[in-house]
Amino acid sequence: AQQELVRRERLAALGELSASVAHEVRNPLGVIANSVAALTRLARPEHSTSWELLGVMGEEVARLDHLINGLLDFARPQQPRLLPQPLGPVVDGALEASLRAQPKDPRVQVVREVDPALPELALDAQLLHLALSNLFINALQAMPQGGTLRVELGHGQARGGIPHARISITDSGPGIPPEVMARLFEPFFTTKATGTGLGLAIVRRIVEAHQGLVEVRSTPEQGTTFIVLLPLAGTARASVA
Ligand code: ADP
Repeated sequence: AQQELVRRERLAALGELSASVAHEVRNPLGVIANSVAALTRLARPEHSTSWELLGVMGEEVARLDHLINGLLDFARPQQPRLLPQPLGPVVDGALEASLRAQPKDPRVQVVREVDPALPELALDAQLLHLALSNLFINALQAMPQGGTLRVELGHGQARGGIPHARISITDSGPGIPPEVMARLFEPFFTTKATGTGLGLAIVRRIVEAHQGLVEVRSTPEQGTTFIVLLPLAGTARASVA
């Protein structure tokens, strides 16, 4: 419990720092992005050196913008506004948004299984959308050569008999090696060339703000399953954080 408290305090401090840096950087970055766009329109002829250099600048600005958005998501106050509602539409919305943001390889098959008896639960749809999108995007990125993305919604007893809804997201990607598994949820830990390492840290904060849990199961060469457990309506306790 002491360790957990230290972890939470460290995360809160990191969150505050991230937010102030992100806010300071965001406006000048917007000005740079607009200027690059305007100069690109003026640059003649197309494919000249200056046109190409502006293209490189535009790409790097987009990368920084992605990082800043990640920092703001990570730092956003995680006091969820919980409203009882069905989980299905939130999961579907996140899946659709993820497929738009990270268009899948045509060889990726999406399989969805929903327990029709799943009751409503108290959740913050916007925050949960963000958390699930991060999991879907990771799963899609893990299958650049195709595979199966399986999404299952169910419910059952978990952790001391408390009824939970269960969202499981399984990819058939390369799996997660043990040395990566150990650091998976650390903010800024990434193995991707253009990753921010904030995705899973955001997922964990949001799920914990719902009094839920995230579990990971991974088999090398076979794939990875992320399981999000959320207490069903009426069972959420007041946050201690
Ligand atoms: P990012 O996606 O920016 O790297 P994340 O926090 O979302 O940041 O993920 C951290 C790391 O966890 C990734 O760089 C990757 O190594 C690993 N990871 C996450 N999801 C998966 C997955 N579905 N399959 C394999 N590795 C994964």
